[in-house]
Amino acid sequence: MTEFAPVPDFALGPDIPKSGYVVTDLGGDAYFVTQGMINTMFLVTKKGVVLVDASPFLADKLLAAIEEVTPKPVTHLIYSHAHADHIGAAHLLNREGLKIISHEITGEFIKQAKHDDRRPMPTETFSGRRKEMDIDGVRFVLDYTGDWHQAGNLFIHLREQKILAAMDSFAPKSAPFFRLYFSAHVPAYFDAMDQMLEYDFETIVTGHMALPGTPEDVATNREYIRDLRTAASEALRTVDMKQAAAAAKVAENNKQAEIKVWMDAVVARAAELMPSWDKRLGGTDIFLADNLNAVAWSVFID
Ligand SMILES: [Zn+2]
Repeated sequence: MTEFAPVPDFALGPDIPKSGYVVTDLGGDAYFVTQGMINTMFLVTKKGVVLVDASPFLADKLLAAIEEVTPKPVTHLIYSHAHADHIGAAHLLNREGLKIISHEITGEFIKQAKHDDRRPMPTETFSGRRKEMDIDGVRFVLDYTGDWHQAGNLFIHLREQKILAAMDSFAPKSAPFFRLYFSAHVPAYFDAMDQMLEYDFETIVTGHMALPGTPEDVATNREYIRDLRTAASEALRTVDMKQAAAAAKVAENNKQAEIKVWMDAVVARAAELMPSWDKRLGGTDIFLADNLNAVAWSVFID
């Protein structure tokens, strides 16, 4: 069995009770919901509830969490992006009159996922960079600034509440999952950290784990991924493909194996070059190689 470091205290969220979820009041009638591994937010307006995403990991817990706060119905559902782990329980909320809002690209992805009827089509989409909406007296700004996670992914900004939702951007106090959250375009992922810090917010909801974050957490993630890039760049400069292949005894005509062992060697070297982060982020031992693989390939080909 692979041994991992215990989760550091600073990265642990609240204990999850028997109900399976925790609701946290973010102020301004906004609430954060988590079941430990996945999270989202909703906002209560005069008339109803505006919900961001509907994860199958939360599913019925989401409705219980909302009922804990208000008897009002969910009137609006905003899809942050098309991935099923975030919106694959939307069918549970779907009813006559529910407005589902997303970028048009997200609608296209859902249309393509014909096998999946858990993600109803959005009722309202927008193209381009920005949509501003007034929902029952609350201002929502939806921004599409680049494919930092998946084409069509949104920043959802609540100006007055000083809340930003950026699902699958990072997790406060933890290293990025896998290959930088399977970012569709790694340079855009780097840009996204700068873009997030341009918003006026105090709280950020990022879709995974049990904690909401702050601008400082965004800056910390940015510093971490910049360290990944520095280490990967240095390893790419110093690890030689032919030498790596010879060291791994790869047959000379096996070009696929050659490039595989080379990148593995680049990642291993970059991991040695990385400064220690385990006092600042949880999970670095779990995802370091995946993170570095994504960054190294991006430095090499983007
Ligand atoms: Zn996603």
